[in-house]
Amino acid sequence: MNKDINEDGYYTGAEVQWSVEDVQICVDSNHPKLDLSEEDYERILVATFQDNEHLMQMINESIGSTIDHMLETGALETPPPMCSHCGDVEVEAEGQPCSKECRDGYVYDWLTENN
Ligand SMILES: [Zn+2]
Repeated sequence: MNKDINEDGYYTGAEVQWSVEDVQICVDSNHPKLDLSEEDYERILVATFQDNEHLMQMINESIGSTIDHMLETGALETPPPMCSHCGDVEVEAEGQPCSKECRDGYVYDWLTENN
């Protein structure tokens, strides 16, 4: 198991761990005149993550584009392309038929589906 994934399957890497100190640093640089309590920092931190649809959506999109990127670069093993008609025989490229019979069957399917 990857060292950044815990036994429940959650990512535990340092880059997704945010602390009260991170809030404090942000407040200090953006609003240096604010004098907030520890409790305020905690409230800001919780409010940042709780029910944050935008953040969740961004993370999900990021997971999606990581998968796409890993597929494009060959970092993930993909199943070989199969016959576009019978689906039983391995072919050279996606969308190809495996034989003349399958090509004819594919054309017939295509014609009947579009009428
Ligand atoms: Zn076939």
